[in-house]
Amino acid sequence: MQVIDLKGKKGLVVGIANEHSLAWSAAKHFRNAGADLALTYLNDKAKAYVKPLSTEAEASLFLPCDVSKPGELEAVFGEIKAKWGRLDFLLHSIAWARKEDLHGRLTDCSAEGFAESMLISVHSFIRMAKLAEPLMEHGGSLMTMSYYGAEKVVDHYNVMGPVKASLEASVRYLAHELGRKSIRVNAISAGAVATRAASGIEHFDELLNETVRKAPLRRTVEACEVGRAALMLASDYASAITGETLHVDAGFHIEGMVFH
Ligand code: NAD
Repeated sequence: MQVIDLKGKKGLVVGIANEHSLAWSAAKHFRNAGADLALTYLNDKAKAYVKPLSTEAEASLFLPCDVSKPGELEAVFGEIKAKWGRLDFLLHSIAWARKEDLHGRLTDCSAEGFAESMLISVHSFIRMAKLAEPLMEHGGSLMTMSYYGAEKVVDHYNVMGPVKASLEASVRYLAHELGRKSIRVNAISAGAVATRAASGIEHFDELLNETVRKAPLRRTVEACEVGRAALMLASDYASAITGETLHVDAGFHIEGMVFH
């Protein structure tokens, strides 16, 4: 199915935890299309899982990146500048919230927990845009991952709902600001896929069942389908697409009340 050519393009992928990660599916598609990749891992514990994937993807750079650790994200971009002198696309595929906030009511979310979740899940994308801008002199593509809970209330999504809403609004503002430099900024609103992050959401199985019941395609989404959408957005095939939240969710988001 791979028809898109990214040969000669340089891309950064942040958010691979293991082979189930949406970011890994995207990275495989980028690499199969010929892109050179910089991949990151969260910490030493995660490194053991991500290293074999980095080897498989023949990543040119493999670096630690915890966006909450001062200087780590900046160091990644420093290495990219030294190695490539430029960047063509990046995928931000990270989200985090304290367990009590992920499992508790938004009403009860602490200021600290809310701020931490916003810094890691949203502001890190804004920081990446700022760091990428000088490396994208000939334009580029910035992508992030969102979810339907940004638009409508999804039971048990809790604090991540407002966090993803902020992420999608940030995509539009970044697209507005960076468009004159031919830098495109888009979100992929992925349907529910069983990953490590998803396992932190209570009753996730019910969400999968509800997708099968309600989505027009009557099925859940595969990680590779999200990866293919990222491949398209990274490429020139998406040259006029920016500020968009692209739903890769088997159509789940269009449905209101569905009776079967
Ligand atoms: P995942 O657990 O594989 O990926 C989440 C990643 O976030 C991990 O690699 C983790 O290391 C990273 N991360 C967390 N805190 C970080 C920090 N401080 N610094 C750097 N990285 C950090 O799960 P996933 O489902 O592939 O999640 C990727 C993205 O997709 C997330 O933004 C998630 O909200 C979004 N998403 C997932 C689904 C789904 O159903 N799986 C649906 C829609 C959107």
